[in-house]
Amino acid sequence: MEQNNSEFHCVGCGACCRWEGIVRINDAEIADISNYLNINELEFIERYTRLAPDRRGLVLLDAPDGACCFLTPDNRCRIHPVKPRQCRDFPKTWSVPPELMARCKGGMRNEEWQGFGGGAP
Ligand code: SF4
Repeated sequence: MEQNNSEFHCVGCGACCRWEGIVRINDAEIADISNYLNINELEFIERYTRLAPDRRGLVLLDAPDGACCFLTPDNRCRIHPVKPRQCRDFPKTWSVPPELMARCKGGMRNEEWQGFGGGAP
């Protein structure tokens, strides 16, 4: 289910960062994230990425529990100021499955869509 998230209010529950799947990163994002982490791009690629399943570019590594490797125990994104577009665009460009909709605590500020979990203040 694709949504317009202009009114989406994220409460930082981390559900999307734990959702199965991949986070693709492009060259500009590799440069930005490496710079933010104060490491060179090769080190970033070696430590935090792997080849995408379709072999078209790189994706972020998963943590042992399946979450994104940059998700902290208190549901913060370690690279939030420079996180990939795919993350910034949630849920706008995602086809959000009902199971993820049920887990996400964010919501819409307007009345158009009641899909997410109802945890938004
Ligand atoms: S990069 Fe940040 S926002 Fe994106 S999935 Fe990882 S922890 Fe979540």
